[in-house]
Amino acid sequence: MRMLFSLFGIVLTTAVASAQPSLDIYYLDVEGGAATLIVTPARESVLVDAGWPGNGGRDVDRIQAAMKAAGITRIDHLIVTHYHTDHVGGVPPLLAKVPVGTVYDHGLMSPPHDPDYASNYEAYVKAVPQRKGLAAGDAIGLKPSADGTPVSLSVVAAHGKVLSRASAPRNARCSSVPAKPADTSDNARSVAFVLTYGAFDFFDAGDLTWNTEAELVCPNVNVPAVEVYQVTHHGLDASNHPLLLEALAPTVAVMNNGAKKGGSAATVKTLKSLPSLKALYQLHRNVATGPDDNTTPDLVANPDESPDAGHMVSVHAKKDGSFEVANHRTGEKRSFASAR
Ligand SMILES: [Zn+2]
Repeated sequence: MRMLFSLFGIVLTTAVASAQPSLDIYYLDVEGGAATLIVTPARESVLVDAGWPGNGGRDVDRIQAAMKAAGITRIDHLIVTHYHTDHVGGVPPLLAKVPVGTVYDHGLMSPPHDPDYASNYEAYVKAVPQRKGLAAGDAIGLKPSADGTPVSLSVVAAHGKVLSRASAPRNARCSSVPAKPADTSDNARSVAFVLTYGAFDFFDAGDLTWNTEAELVCPNVNVPAVEVYQVTHHGLDASNHPLLLEALAPTVAVMNNGAKKGGSAATVKTLKSLPSLKALYQLHRNVATGPDDNTTPDLVANPDESPDAGHMVSVHAKKDGSFEVANHRTGEKRSFASAR
């Protein structure tokens, strides 16, 4: 037996390594929009936002390419964080090409919603006759991994309301960051959630804006520390409240900015100042700002302005909280330990 093991040691090790269950997250490049594909250890799939419409079906093509890379043929759960074009616009064309299970959003709105986005909203409602509205405190039931490790997706904000737990610890720093003018757009109603697999946590808040972000951590801190943070609102500084980022204390941040959208210098500065942060990945280099206001070149998936490349960033997480991040342009993979 021992002989067999040493003979086939390499083969066995490889097989075991690739068979070890992981939670996989693919941050698709949809050129300043959002489309994040999550595949659980039980191979259940969650797509968060579906990018833009038009552009010759570019974003649906990129979603299908990522699905193929992940080895899945359907989307079990589709979460629409809010009704802006760069998030919901890709939903009708996606549904025409890909089987989709349950569709979730922050709830339908009788007017007024953002008048500028009314046509996308109407196209979405028409394309998806049955939806599930999510509220803060809701969870989307996901299957555990084969060894019984739970996978959970917990909604912490939706429709402008945030999760509030009386037992949550007080935040002593709330007066240190001023509020911004009230945001009446649909961004403030974005669905925000924490995805957990064993000791690994991921936070995604769509385009949630400053004052609502603040409510998540003031007066009580209602979010856990996470391993990976999807930089909210493409990195715009109307979002990414420093006290929320402090509470999330991410090890890695992934920013789904475009070459000329998001990636604000102020957000990059806040992220770089976090003691917890080991790496900031960007789907694009912000071509309008300098090297100091971007991450290091090796952590950029798409350094050029050309929209043809479409390289993604992916995260592969284990139940002990350790994870690997891949830049699909360079092929480089970095490993990170659990934050806990
Ligand atoms: Zn957006």
